[in-house]
Amino acid sequence: MEHIRRQPQDVTALFLTHEHSDHISGAGALTKKHGTPIYGTRGTREEMRRHVSPDVDWRAIEREDETVVGDLRVESFATPHDAVESVAYVVRCGSQKLGHITDLGRITPLIIEKLQGCDVLLVESNHDERMLENGHYPWPLKQRIQSDVGHLSNEACADLLARVKHDALKTVVLMHLSESNNHPEIAMDSARRVLGDHPATLFPARQSTPSVLIPIE
Ligand SMILES: [Zn+2]
Ligand SMILES: [Zn+2]
Repeated sequence: MEHIRRQPQDVTALFLTHEHSDHISGAGALTKKHGTPIYGTRGTREEMRRHVSPDVDWRAIEREDETVVGDLRVESFATPHDAVESVAYVVRCGSQKLGHITDLGRITPLIIEKLQGCDVLLVESNHDERMLENGHYPWPLKQRIQSDVGHLSNEACADLLARVKHDALKTVVLMHLSESNNHPEIAMDSARRVLGDHPATLFPARQSTPSVLIPIE
């Protein structure tokens, strides 16, 4: 947060997608120290109980829901993932729309519908299918990642982008890139192929450094 000149106390609310540790490990510390409210589905909450103190400021949302936080309207919708009640989000501010979707095994008609007309899209581009197949992960883990409730490959991400791209799309961020089964350049090439000469800004989110702030006002 220091890198992007923000303080933890600047965070008004935290929205969780699901209970996997790579998505919740910082949540407990943040809310304990700063009282930041955490929004998530009941299923996510139940699974988190083991890791996060029960007295956090928890705000339950439904899998399909709309929550207002300040100037933002946050819409949740279901994702196919091997978590209890996982969701993705669409955030609206004025006329601007941001879609955030990660950790999903496949694209559903609901997802295509919800992500239409976004100004900013943050989408999982987890692995290159061939790198995963030939890589060192144990077979059961490979199967889990490839499954309908696993993770979106570069190829599937490109397919999703092809179905939701439109003329006014401004920014596309590729997220949740595997460090073992992907390279940012491979993921970028895959997305570039479907975006063609579309002028949208495209970049990968990195695990070790924060991305630039994307204004959606
Ligand atoms: Zn994850
Ligand atoms: Zn996950």
